[in-house]
Amino acid sequence: MEAGKEVLVYINGEYVPRSKASISVYDHGFLYGDGVFEGIRAYDGVVFKLKEHIDRLYDSAKAIMLEIPLSKEEMINAVLETLRKNGLRDAYIRLLVTRGVGDLGLDPRKCRKPNVIIITEPMLPLYGKESKMKGISVIISSVRRDRVDATTHQIKSMNYLNSILAKLEAIAAGADDAVMLDERGFVSETTATNIFIVKNKKIITPPTTTGALPGITRNFVIELARKLGYDVEEKDITPFELLTADEVFVTGTGAEIVPVTKIAGRVIGDGKAGEVTMRLIEEFEKERSKPENGVKIYPD
Ligand code: PMP
Repeated sequence: MEAGKEVLVYINGEYVPRSKASISVYDHGFLYGDGVFEGIRAYDGVVFKLKEHIDRLYDSAKAIMLEIPLSKEEMINAVLETLRKNGLRDAYIRLLVTRGVGDLGLDPRKCRKPNVIIITEPMLPLYGKESKMKGISVIISSVRRDRVDATTHQIKSMNYLNSILAKLEAIAAGADDAVMLDERGFVSETTATNIFIVKNKKIITPPTTTGALPGITRNFVIELARKLGYDVEEKDITPFELLTADEVFVTGTGAEIVPVTKIAGRVIGDGKAGEVTMRLIEEFEKERSKPENGVKIYPD
């Protein structure tokens, strides 16, 4: 991207400079958080797991009965074209589909046309394990993850208040983030990442039945770990198991893989990134820009 040039934002097929990119205050995405979204990343000209993100977007839309006015293929092309228009190779991509403009009532039938928005921003990958060695501190939030029969995070909706309430607690406690439990008291995920524990070299992550988002990074890390020969299991984790794990790490598109070294005042392992976590970070950094793990932005 040229220095000083404004990023162009895709809004319903038009490319609008960032400073002019706006949506009506009557959009139900704004009024009610009624919409779905994806956070995606591109590494060195390859959009990591773009097809998987698009599939998840359409699944979220289906769950809230929102008909996206583009086919999946058209949506993929719109993402790639927005990146090309901005000359980006390394980027963060925010793709949103809102219910659209309606009236002040809840009724989604009043919203005639969903708004499709694609924001792309330059973002360089954080190179080097050193920056990740220190890890983050988390609390265990008193705010429970939304139930699977309610506004579950299995739907990646524009309503993130459940996570924001937990994040506020983390900030008030001086921690970096918060682990959220499900309504039974089992570990679900953090406010915006999936969580893993390592015990005796075995890797465990909670199932999405805890209300956790089926993370794209989570799935990829499970695959990577199995390829490296680790035993990976999806099963319920109690707060006790979390606090007494040898290693804990979180995964997400923005975060990639980050060690958790302190939980609710307890030091995890020896207080720095563990061996398994570091191995996975290393592998992830090797894999993330490979064309087979995504879709190329520019033809060869
Ligand atoms: N959980 C939540 C609640 C999230 O918002 C996210 C995305 N930031 C994740 C997990 C991680 O998912 P992904 O790896 O697909 O980014």
